[in-house]
Amino acid sequence: MYGASDVRIEIVPDAQLIESTDALVAVTHACICGSDLWPYKTMQHNDAGRRMGHEAVGVVEDVGADVRTLKVGDVVVMPFAFSDGTCVFCHEGLHTSCIHGGFFGTTEVAGAQAEAVRVPQADGTLFVLPVGRDDALMPSLLTLSDVMGTGHHAAVAAKVGPRKSVAVVGDGAVGLCGVIAARRLGAEQIIIMGRHPDRVALAKEFGATHVVTERGEEAIERVRELTGGFGVHSVLECVGLEQSMLTAVEIARAGGAVGRVGVPQDETMPASQTAFFSNVTVSGGPAPVRAYIEELLPDVLEGRIEPGRVFDQVVRLEEVPDGYRAMDEREAIKVMVEP
Ligand SMILES: [Zn+2]
Repeated sequence: MYGASDVRIEIVPDAQLIESTDALVAVTHACICGSDLWPYKTMQHNDAGRRMGHEAVGVVEDVGADVRTLKVGDVVVMPFAFSDGTCVFCHEGLHTSCIHGGFFGTTEVAGAQAEAVRVPQADGTLFVLPVGRDDALMPSLLTLSDVMGTGHHAAVAAKVGPRKSVAVVGDGAVGLCGVIAARRLGAEQIIIMGRHPDRVALAKEFGATHVVTERGEEAIERVRELTGGFGVHSVLECVGLEQSMLTAVEIARAGGAVGRVGVPQDETMPASQTAFFSNVTVSGGPAPVRAYIEELLPDVLEGRIEPGRVFDQVVRLEEVPDGYRAMDEREAIKVMVEP
């Protein structure tokens, strides 16, 4: 990506091992993330460009001398952040704060919308999948690199549990995975807030019990009506805009919680006084998806959840620029890339 709306596919030098703890992964499946759309809308032109993509499944092609748990040929899922798996934060399950960690698709570490990717801290980062490279479950397995883990993190941060009422702000892929996560954790009432018929339909199949298509004040009123006037116990904020955060806090009942995973586009937090006087907990951040793979994987393998259904378009690598356009124009929910 060279700037807003400027995505190009280029031939670059092959990815290769740099550190002895690296692995080289041939990408079999990647995707375009909702968070890739923020730079797609706003990035200043940059001559060096940024190699995008932080979600992938692939096959290990080479490993550094100090890699212990991976071997050539392993089919692996790559979380959007790399992490050593051994530091104090990794032990606490917060891999996105790893002291040796970082993020893919940045100016420092090249991204996975590519034929191959160098994976730092390979032992801690990569998770070996017990399937072949062309397994039918691949789309769902790919979501473990970001969106499914992120939706789950929103639900955890929002303290979703049995018999709770939940609202999901945002009908993108993460919001839809948030619906899956809320149901999986036993929520009784799940309100999806969105208006695109195809997304709302999928949300219902994933377990949403109510739909709120209104916005702003009307949306807040509608959620209160659906919850005996009090608001919901748990709100999953999956957008990151001022308006969505404001709505999220306003629809939380007193003592409730907002789990936010939409990357905030503002420095300040909206509705801070409302949150304070209602004792609403606001937490969340970049999801430690590496920590969640073990918990979510059995449900994917045994077909209890099907997060891969968020992919409604598949492109080849050379078609990636059009994939960005399709997602930006909300023509596609989420685009999978098969290099
Ligand atoms: Zn760590």
